[in-house]
Amino acid sequence: MLQRSPLTERVVLTTHKEGTDEERKMSAAIRIDPETGRKIFNTRAAKASEKITGKGYSVLADQKLKELPEMPAGATFNADEQAKYRAFKEARLGAADYIAMEGEFKKYLNDVYSEPPIPREALTDECEVLVVGAGFGGLLLWHKLSNAGFTDVRFCEKGGDVGGTWYWNRYPGIACDVESYSYLPLLEEMGYIPSMKFASGFEILEYCQAMAQKFGFYDHCLFHTTVEATTWDEESGRWIVETDRGDKMRARFVILANGILTTPKLARINGMEKFQGVAFHTSRWDYNVDLRGKTVGIIGTGATAVQAIPELAKVVGQLYVFQRTPSSVDVRDQRATTDEERQTWANEPGWARARRARFARISAGRTAIQANDDYLAGKIEEIKKPKQYERKLTPVELVQKQLDANFRIMEQIRARVDAIVKDPKTAAALKPYYPYGCKRPTFHDEYLPTFNLPHVHLVDVAPLGVREINERGVVHEGVEYPLDVLIYATGFQWMGTSTFNRITGRGGRTLKEKWETEGTKTFLGLHSKGFPNLFIVTGPQGGGGSFNFTDAIDAHGDYLVWMLQTMRERGARIVDVRQEHEDTYAEHCRVVDIATAPLRDCVSYYNGEGKAEPGSLAYYGGGQWHKHRIAAQSSLEPYVFDYSESVMTASPK
Ligand SMILES: Cc1cc2nc3c(=O)[nH]c(=O)nc-3n(C[C@H](O)[C@H](O)[C@H](O)COP(=O)(O)OP(=O)(O)OC[C@H]3O[C@@H](n4cnc5c(N)ncnc54)[C@H](O)[C@@H]3O)c2cc1C
Repeated sequence: MLQRSPLTERVVLTTHKEGTDEERKMSAAIRIDPETGRKIFNTRAAKASEKITGKGYSVLADQKLKELPEMPAGATFNADEQAKYRAFKEARLGAADYIAMEGEFKKYLNDVYSEPPIPREALTDECEVLVVGAGFGGLLLWHKLSNAGFTDVRFCEKGGDVGGTWYWNRYPGIACDVESYSYLPLLEEMGYIPSMKFASGFEILEYCQAMAQKFGFYDHCLFHTTVEATTWDEESGRWIVETDRGDKMRARFVILANGILTTPKLARINGMEKFQGVAFHTSRWDYNVDLRGKTVGIIGTGATAVQAIPELAKVVGQLYVFQRTPSSVDVRDQRATTDEERQTWANEPGWARARRARFARISAGRTAIQANDDYLAGKIEEIKKPKQYERKLTPVELVQKQLDANFRIMEQIRARVDAIVKDPKTAAALKPYYPYGCKRPTFHDEYLPTFNLPHVHLVDVAPLGVREINERGVVHEGVEYPLDVLIYATGFQWMGTSTFNRITGRGGRTLKEKWETEGTKTFLGLHSKGFPNLFIVTGPQGGGGSFNFTDAIDAHGDYLVWMLQTMRERGARIVDVRQEHEDTYAEHCRVVDIATAPLRDCVSYYNGEGKAEPGSLAYYGGGQWHKHRIAAQSSLEPYVFDYSESVMTASPK
């Protein structure tokens, strides 16, 4: 494990004036580097607390919990099964009704993990690149940009420290679902090897903090600073970035690295404001609440809940799990990193990069997430040989084959429920009927056995979900469930880039308006016409990744460095994209989404609860994104460069 180090403050270059505590803090928060004349920030507000330490998946000895029942060979997704899936979906259509955390619900967004914001003056100056977000996106961008000589880079982050997803999500049991040797970027540069195959979120957070320390990120980041408006100023060729701290900064380039699952959402439930007990969302876990012996309710059974419920069950008195739709719960088989692996990797320069690259080549979600060690370590060439058919299958036949294979996986997952959960009614409710991967797949070896415990109660609120909350707790079908604590595991807005802050481009049009009227339109997911010098990392239509999100961040970061370097070399000041290229790319996203849609035929946040237009959210074209990218980079045809007043300020290190 990384050692939790005290916040290492850099030497304060300005002399402290006499004054109040507030004034001293203000002057320490921003100082000037005498060498570069640029500002250095000291705004990290995270507190190191024993309460945030925890563990993710346990290593289990019971082999039976880590085995799947036999796959039903030859089973097909026939008409009866299709009808069952359809009924399951249709019953839930329209049930998901989420509300923003505004007004009386705004309290659920409070940053419970840091000290109050460090006081500082509002900024009205200029930087070359302003990045929104300090998760892996921000951290990797800083590493890449600074290595390429772009050092006048500033980050704005809503939270009090780095980590993004891993800063905000600290619920008990949190862990990475992509094997950590492939998920954590720059392992060799950091000289670090994760302790477990699937590292806990706490270990990942500490890794992010260590990255920020090592690469000098903290000096560049304004924490507790939420970007509220980003407005293009045609005259100066700059973005004006306004924040909740009163800043009005100018930037030549803005990069949105604000994440795909960053804004928590709440289900709209009658009477939820009346509840008199303690309530919080899983992404703001309140460790001041002692759950020992309490009666606790949790609403939601998605990926977060699957990880949190087994840990909750270990401490609470009674646990009520309110489930609208069950998750697919696959085998996890957690293990510690072995001494042999440590030794091998120590003698194998490039191991981490090679492993990440191999991971990225796996095309099937379940195979990737199960992460075969021999393949990832390069000991075997392929996980399994691609199936050979006597003739080339039509796209429709191919999808049918995939649906059959997918059905067999789900049968296996459903059989696992029956094999583990003793009460037949509970087991029936825990079985998911939709294609594998349509909702976020989950993995756990303790989740299903938790429902055999006498103090854990599954309350099946299918298909419409919890509809009523009163002063005492949840009410369902006339039964009241009094609770001391109510936990909302209701997830996040997915890919809402255009709504995280008000982005106003050329002609005063906002990105939200553009996408609402024209549909989501980007080029490579990274540019959107009319929003020059603005780049979106891992947003809608942004491909280039695998099931490993940091892989997409990596690809997008490399692309952006290439773009800034290209502009520097050519003396270009502004880049936008051509209409026809954006249209063609958006159409490509639509087509690849439609072609694979039967594999995602359910109600899921991935498809906007069944309402999203094809191609408007995640990218489903696999490796084709790279083809589009490479073609653009070699021809430069999609780009409109503006060369007037070429004043790129980056200088090679
Ligand atoms: C619980 C959970 C588990 C996950 N597990 C996995 C996994 O196992 N494997 C995987 O590949 N991916 C996983 N993901 C996806 C995960 O989000 C990515 O892997 C990755 O961490 C994203 O990094 P990011 O920097 O792009 O975004 P984030 O980590 O979300 O960081 C974005 C940051 O931007 C900040 N921000 C947003 N808007 C503003 C604003 N207007 N102003 C200032 N700051 C702003 C946010 O506060 C946040 O800190 C998981 C996500 C969640 C929520």
